[in-house]
Amino acid sequence: MISKRIVLKFPPKLVDKPIVYKLVKDFDLVFNILRAKVTPKEEGELVIELKGKKQRYAEGIKYLKELGVKTQPLSQDVTRDEKRCTHCGACVTICPTDALYMDKKSMKVIFESAKCIACELCVKGCPPRAMKVKL
Ligand code: SF4
Ligand code: SF4
Repeated sequence: MISKRIVLKFPPKLVDKPIVYKLVKDFDLVFNILRAKVTPKEEGELVIELKGKKQRYAEGIKYLKELGVKTQPLSQDVTRDEKRCTHCGACVTICPTDALYMDKKSMKVIFESAKCIACELCVKGCPPRAMKVKL
């Protein structure tokens, strides 16, 4: 059994299709939606946690790719430009999952991407624009 958090990007022609439902029905996968941005006739983006048997998971991802849905691990979606970060701490209170936190020993702000749900709140709240969405 594996569980991964992934970003799905749907081209406009697929936005209104029941693709995630097919992942459940045909590949026995379980999903949890972490974030959704869907506008009719525009590209859609879904951040989901997807769980299932390893083989079925791989088949489900292959199905998505063949349809034209772009997939990438969630950890690649929001990144930090280490050179820009001033460790000001502004993002620490903004982050809902504690993916950004202050290390009390070094007084540096740590970014733990595995905890990030790509809500993008820190992207707008970071004064030097160190937090970025990878497109
Ligand atoms: S708000 Fe930006 S600059 Fe400040 S600690 Fe967070 S990532 Fe670094
Ligand atoms: S995108 Fe959201 S969850 Fe991820 S680090 Fe920024 S505030 Fe935290």
